[in-house]
Amino acid sequence: MPDPRSPSTSWRTRLVQPEVHAPAGFRSLAMPVYRGSTTLFDSAADTEDTWRTAQRPYRYGLYGTPTAMELAARMRELEGAAHTFLTPGGQAALALVDLALLGAGDHVLLPENVYAPGLDVARRTLQRLGIEAEVYDPLAGAEVARQFKPNTRLVWCESPGSITMEVQDVRAIAQAAHAHGALVAVDNTYAAGVLFDAFAHGADVACQALTKYVGGHSDLLLGSVSLRDDSLYERIGDTHQLLGMGVSPDDCSLALRGLQTLPLRLDALGRSTLAVARWLAQRPEVKQVLHPALPSCPGHEHWLRDFTGSASVFSIVLPPHHGREQIVRFIDALQLFHIGYSWGGVTSLAMPCFELPRRFRPLEGTVVRLNIGLEAVDDLLADLEQGLRELQR
Ligand SMILES: *Cc1c(COP(=O)(O)O)cnc(C)c1O
Repeated sequence: MPDPRSPSTSWRTRLVQPEVHAPAGFRSLAMPVYRGSTTLFDSAADTEDTWRTAQRPYRYGLYGTPTAMELAARMRELEGAAHTFLTPGGQAALALVDLALLGAGDHVLLPENVYAPGLDVARRTLQRLGIEAEVYDPLAGAEVARQFKPNTRLVWCESPGSITMEVQDVRAIAQAAHAHGALVAVDNTYAAGVLFDAFAHGADVACQALTKYVGGHSDLLLGSVSLRDDSLYERIGDTHQLLGMGVSPDDCSLALRGLQTLPLRLDALGRSTLAVARWLAQRPEVKQVLHPALPSCPGHEHWLRDFTGSASVFSIVLPPHHGREQIVRFIDALQLFHIGYSWGGVTSLAMPCFELPRRFRPLEGTVVRLNIGLEAVDDLLADLEQGLRELQR
């Protein structure tokens, strides 16, 4: 019988037959990165291909390694969910919810300020599958019911919405949707799952791009789909498996580290961002500041009622007489604000939003989205001041 550790076994065989076990007596505060596509069974009698990790963990790497399952458990706890599934990014979380909960002949509603690739998946992928997608006024509240059809199965909320930051009356929308027999999914990325309690306000499903605040350092891509109760567990879980939505344990371990400093980062980012937003609100060059904690932000009253804080991303509206070149000059002049997509990390970012399809809430002027990082506020204000001088030139 070949013993993999015996010197009489070929060195080739010994190299590929490692003895892998957690070292006895070693304890650390860090969750190890457990990698594994194949995960091993003790006996052929134990083999069973199921994604239901709560009942039968470690069937296959795609359904969860210990590192990924630890992150899913922390997210479930944090959001007060019954179940949390991890996805390769926030966009994958949105697509998973759509594909799991909708079928041919269904109708889905999304706020017009929804994260644009989320609208694209509805308009392009879902449309092709015979699912009709329509946008609604993010500030419609209970009036969203006017757009309900007999086949409306799902209503998305994102609050505050992307770029124009309208804060929604999620409770009123959820009540209307439930009265109609439709499900409610909330993209809760802005709130990091903590500044707004999606389930307490009626969500059936809460999604997040963990890429943003949970990761917190602009170096990973992950998403989450959390469920209020057991009712959607089979549908989401089954689709999650069939679409092959595995996540990297390395990214999960970074996200677990991010969670440890999430409260401190959110506090500091929230404070700095509000200081910058208030400063910008006083500047004559700025037409409007779209920050949920300021009265100039549409839906501010919902933020006051429903949120426990504000985060690091907001927008400013620059007056329409500035051409594209001036806006570009302003952003390019900034030294501390870098130019790039995504947000929620420790570094300040600025992005122009030249094309903004807004039918219900049209805007006059050009929107520039800012993400405030952990730099000293005075340095950021000095940078913005010299940038605004360039804008006026
Ligand atoms: C960034 C973002 C996403 C997508 O997240 P990725 O991890 O980049 O795929 C989804 N929703 C909102 C609101 C976002 O800001």
